[in-house]
Amino acid sequence: MKDNPDIKKVISQHSEIEQFFSGGFAVKGKTPISEPLEQEDNTSAAEKAAELEKIAEEVCACRKCPLGSLRTNAVPGEGNPNARIMFVGEAPGADEDAQGQPFVGRAGQLLDKVIAACGLKRSNVFIGNILKCRPPENRDPAAEEIISCLPYLQRQIEIINPEIIVALGAHAARTLLNTNKSIGQLRGQFHEYYSGLGRPPIKLMATYHTAYLLRNYSQENRQKVWEDMKKVLAELGLPIPEHGKK
Ligand code: SF4
Repeated sequence: MKDNPDIKKVISQHSEIEQFFSGGFAVKGKTPISEPLEQEDNTSAAEKAAELEKIAEEVCACRKCPLGSLRTNAVPGEGNPNARIMFVGEAPGADEDAQGQPFVGRAGQLLDKVIAACGLKRSNVFIGNILKCRPPENRDPAAEEIISCLPYLQRQIEIINPEIIVALGAHAARTLLNTNKSIGQLRGQFHEYYSGLGRPPIKLMATYHTAYLLRNYSQENRQKVWEDMKKVLAELGLPIPEHGKK
């Protein structure tokens, strides 16, 4: 009996996704990626880092909304000032609040796997959130909180000026795109984020938040995130890693 090409394709795709989310991907060759992982920007990384540090200090002293008095630590965001990709989530959770760093809990560990599967390191990208302080019980951000906090993220985006923003989840995507559409409608295609008058739009890819993926860990959802990230890599001219055990 002849092999059914559709079945072979499904099996191959399944294997690819399993390895993607288990961190089993590897880029073949000694130098994983020859394309620049960071921008070659006129503004030096040191200047950008200093501006980002100033924002971080403001965030850590901020009491513009009630979350400021409820937090253990503010979570300004962190990463490469010359990142070509900026990941934006919703708000810190318990682990992030305890450590003052973004995406360090289970959802953060899954994001690390996604980043590694793309042939990148966490130090290549910048990771931030719409809100810089944890909402109690991880409830959804309130509109007033977003209005108070969003200027910090907008300034971070303006300084870093990434080529692509990956919005993780509905709250990040809706806020940055100023829309009420669902994440299902928004994900999988590039949108445009406008960082200011006279500045060219930044491409934005919306995809599922890794916390959502953990709650809904289906083959279908994982495949969707992998497809979204492959589009991001292709848009940046970065190689799409071949799957193989490390
Ligand atoms: S959530 Fe944002 S606006 Fe509210 S206190 Fe924290 S840093 Fe300030």
